[in-house]
Amino acid sequence: MTNPLYDALFAPHTGSDRVFMHLSDGGKVTYAAFLQMADRTAQALVSLGVAPGDRVAVHVEKSVQALALYSACIKAGVVFLPLNTAYTAKELEYFVGDSGAALFVCDPGEAEAVAPIAQATGAMLRTLAGDGSGTLSDLAATMPAQFETVACGEDDLAALLYTSGTTGRSKGAMLTQRNLLSNAQALVACWRFTEGDVLLHALPIFHSHGLFVATNVTLLAGGALIFLPKFDADTVLRLLPQATTMMGVPTFYTRLLDDPRFDRALTAHMRLFVSGSAPLLADTHVAFEARTGHRILERYGMTETSMNTSNPYDGDRRAGTVGFPLPGVEARICDPETRAELPRGETGMLHVRGPNVFKGYWQMPEKTREELQDDGWFITGDLARIDADGYVTIVGRGKDLIISGGYNIYPKEIELFLDAQPGVKESAVVGAPHPDFGESVVAVLVPEAGETIDLATIEAAARADLAGFKRPRHVVVMEDLPRNTMGKVQKADLRKQFAGVFQ
Ligand code: ATP
Ligand code: MG
Repeated sequence: MTNPLYDALFAPHTGSDRVFMHLSDGGKVTYAAFLQMADRTAQALVSLGVAPGDRVAVHVEKSVQALALYSACIKAGVVFLPLNTAYTAKELEYFVGDSGAALFVCDPGEAEAVAPIAQATGAMLRTLAGDGSGTLSDLAATMPAQFETVACGEDDLAALLYTSGTTGRSKGAMLTQRNLLSNAQALVACWRFTEGDVLLHALPIFHSHGLFVATNVTLLAGGALIFLPKFDADTVLRLLPQATTMMGVPTFYTRLLDDPRFDRALTAHMRLFVSGSAPLLADTHVAFEARTGHRILERYGMTETSMNTSNPYDGDRRAGTVGFPLPGVEARICDPETRAELPRGETGMLHVRGPNVFKGYWQMPEKTREELQDDGWFITGDLARIDADGYVTIVGRGKDLIISGGYNIYPKEIELFLDAQPGVKESAVVGAPHPDFGESVVAVLVPEAGETIDLATIEAAARADLAGFKRPRHVVVMEDLPRNTMGKVQKADLRKQFAGVFQ
């Protein structure tokens, strides 16, 4: 094999007339057409002087051409670096500079604003619009639709993916060919993907979920995508009858449940719904089954590792858990301080090890040493427990742990209690500095549609059910929790907002 990832995901489809992508306007893209577009793009990269190992930073709308650019990078041994479309020019400066990108592909609409960044960092600048037009495509159109695969090793970088920045500044995770390929293989096997599958793809392609999980699994199995520019409930409801599987973040599923058209008849033909990137409320899992008869399969992963655990395809998909370690992946729970392994059932820091675990953080050798041990175990930063049956439950982030008067408080425990109170749809619990206790508990409650929350009832219930140190000392009702595009609650924003309430 000359280029293990390309050879496994893309090469087998060369010349194939089968449909790879169904577009929302009814258009179709065959594998052959997609791979020719990728070959022209790879030629364009080379003609610009982009060499194997160089980074190509990509800040563009989701499009067929953007995915072809991913394929082109893999084939040319170039490191693909997709960036969240929500990032502003100010934020892009960090990513383009930090990565030392040789080429920066941006949306035509922002070319003027980001030109100084390209100039300052020495990156070439080309454009690619959501409709596929732009200076990069113009160049690709002049190129031959053939490109010789560049030889790569399993440990060579395939992508540099920055983490979501939920707990601090985003870090560049160096992902190798082996990382991505081993994960795609594990997921195809676990989730039984075949060439008959049509995956409804409404996720962004700048994040591990939409780019690697959904796309690589489909490519490896030889299936097709219903490739949508973004999640739009009407479009999803219209196209779901043509799909066999769907992957989404929890907010996709809550939004579908908000629509009465989403029902058992519409989903009867579906084989699988997968959820991840943020915790799926147990309530959503239950409501989804009641409405459709399907049990959502929840899995857990992160930018640094792709997927680590999954609920079973056959067998009990347990609400509130993320299932078992994938084949080839090991998981253990350790003391956050001493790193000694803890007995089954105890809550602690989740460590994972396997061929999926990244090579390290880009230009952060110290952070890499802290979190990626020499023996291969990666300290995820997530608190979890593994029950007697082997199911992993994510309890929250280590950084969200609240320490009040010397006691550890797991926000998830308080959130589960609050979510169960009358009129409460969901909640978020954070710590705020407290003069006596170090930190104390702030709770944000979101009411069920059309209901009001009676704070006195909730306080009485908390007094009855929660130890004093765990009780929220400041409770606020909000319309919505602050979330990013992946549906992740932005607790850092809440902490900032409530930093002064006990002072
Ligand atoms: P940063 O590392 O920059 O703070 P981030 O951790 O949010 O940001 P990602 O790599 O996109 O960046 O997200 C991985 C995290 O998402 C996991 O560490 C975990 O906290 C959370 N996560 C993913 N899937 C699940 C899930 N099914 N249940 C609970 N949490 C999940
Ligand atoms: Mg993280």
